[in-house]
Amino acid sequence: MASSLKYTPLEDIPKIHDTVVAKFNSGITRPLAWRRQQLIQLGKMLQENEERLAEAIHIDLGKPRLETTVADIGPVVYGVTVALESLEEWTAPEKPSKLPQWRANWDTTVYKSPKGAVLIITPWNYPYIITLGPLIGVIAAGNTAVIKPSEMVPTVSAALAELIPKYLDPEAFMVVNGAVEETTRLLDLRWDHIFYTGSNRVGRVVATAAAKNVTPVTLELGGKCPVVVDSNTDVELAAKRILYGKQANVGQVCVSPDYVLVHRSKQDEVIAAFQKIAKQFWPEGSLKSPDIGHIISPLHRNRLTGLLEKTNGKIALGGGVEGDKKMEITIVKDVGVNDILMEDEIYGPILAVVPVEDTDEAIRVISSKPSALVVYVFTEDEAVKNKFLQGTASGTLCLNDTYQQLAVHEMPFGGAGESGYGAYLGKTSFDTFSQSRSYVNVPFANEPYMAVRYPPYTDEAVDA
Ligand code: NAD
Repeated sequence: MASSLKYTPLEDIPKIHDTVVAKFNSGITRPLAWRRQQLIQLGKMLQENEERLAEAIHIDLGKPRLETTVADIGPVVYGVTVALESLEEWTAPEKPSKLPQWRANWDTTVYKSPKGAVLIITPWNYPYIITLGPLIGVIAAGNTAVIKPSEMVPTVSAALAELIPKYLDPEAFMVVNGAVEETTRLLDLRWDHIFYTGSNRVGRVVATAAAKNVTPVTLELGGKCPVVVDSNTDVELAAKRILYGKQANVGQVCVSPDYVLVHRSKQDEVIAAFQKIAKQFWPEGSLKSPDIGHIISPLHRNRLTGLLEKTNGKIALGGGVEGDKKMEITIVKDVGVNDILMEDEIYGPILAVVPVEDTDEAIRVISSKPSALVVYVFTEDEAVKNKFLQGTASGTLCLNDTYQQLAVHEMPFGGAGESGYGAYLGKTSFDTFSQSRSYVNVPFANEPYMAVRYPPYTDEAVDA
C-alpha cells in the first residue's frame, strides 16, 4: 500500500469550498432519506474497507489491529447505527413543555435546521473516529462538509481521500489533503461551522480565523488528564485500568492518563502494582510487544526522551528506547508538582506518579493546571467522588476506569476551559451541527390579551 500523500493544489481549495456550499444550497441534504442513505454509505465504506483502513494506520502508526477495530473504526460504525436509529427522533421539532396561560394558544416550536457547509480539521492519533465521528453528526443534521485529515498519517489520509468520494455524495463531502498551507487556505474561507480537533496552539489559530466571519467553532483540544488513586480502592485493579489507558496508542491520546496523584504512603504499593501488571501485559517487555505501536515521529520521540533526561523523578518502569520512534511504557515516581513532567501534556508513553498528602492537595494540584478533558478518580468512597465533582473542572469526570467515557455516546464528549469548547458524540453531534430555530405564531385570536400593550399608554393599563 502506497503511503505517499498527494496534497490538494492550493488553487483548487476555493472551488472545493464553493462546490460543497452550492450542494448545500441546492437543498439536496434536507430530506431525511438522503441523510439516511449517506449514513448507510459511510457505514458500508468502513465495513467493506476495514482491512485496508486498519492496514493503513498500522503502516503510519504501527497500531495493532484490535485497537483500531475497538477504538477507531468500531465506534464510527456504532455511531452510524445510532444515528440511523435516532434520525427521526433527533430531527423532530420540539415544543416547550409549559406555556403561561396567556400564551397557551401560541404555536411555539423549535425546528432543527442544518447549519450549512462545515469544515472538519483533524489530527493523526485516532484518524477514523476523530474524522468520521463528527461527520456522522454533519450528515445527520443535513450539512455538507470539507474534511482536512492529518498529513502526519499519509497512508490513512490518502485512503480517506480515495474512499470518501466513492461512497458518499462527492459534491457534498470532499477531502482536502495537506498541511499548514492548505489548512490556512481553508481557514481563509467562510464556513458555517468549523470543527477542529488537535493541539491547543493550532486551536487558537482556528478560533481566530473563525472569529473573522463569526463562524461557530468546536475546539476539541488536549491537556494534562490527571488520575487520582484514592486510598480506598483496589490498587491492583486500578493500576491495570490506568496502565491499559496509558498504553493505548502509546499514550498519544487526548484522554491519556498523564499523571497519577497518590497518597505518599501508598506510592510504593501503586508502583509495585504497575510493575506487576506490566509483566502480565508485556512478558517480554513493552518494546518487544506487537501490541504496542510507535511514536508518531522522531521529533516527538526526542521530545519524550528529553523529558526523561530532565525530570527529577525516578524511573520505576521502562525508560528504554529502540530505533527513532519506539519508547517503552515508562513510569516515573516521586515526581514533584513543579517537575518538567508536570508542565505540558506528555502525549507519549510516560506516566508521572506524583505523591501528595491528601485529597485536598490532589485537588489543589489539578486546579493549578488548565482544565483537562477528563479527571480520572479511583475510589469506592462516595464522599471522595463528590469532593472531586465539586472541587475540580474538566469535560468529563470518570470514576474507576480510564477511557470508558468514550463508549458512552449518549453523553457529550468535549473539553472545559483550555481543553476546548463545544462537544460531540451521539445526539450531541447532531445538535452541534444543527441550528435550533425558534418559530412563533401569535394567533389573532389572542388579541384580547395583547390590547394592553398598545398606545396611548394609560395608568389603567399599567395597573391591569
Ligand atoms: P495539530 O494541531 O498539530 O494538527 C491538527 C490539524 O491541524 C492537522 O490537520 C494539521 O494539518 C493542522 N495544522 C497544524 N498546524 C497548523 C497551523 N499552523 N495552521 C493551521 N492548521 C494547522 O495536532 P496533532 O499533533 O495532530 O494532535 C495532537 C493534539 O491534539 C494533542 O494536544 C491532543 O491532546 C489533541 N487531541 C485532542 C482530541 C480531543 O478530542 N479533544 C483528540 C485527539 C487529539
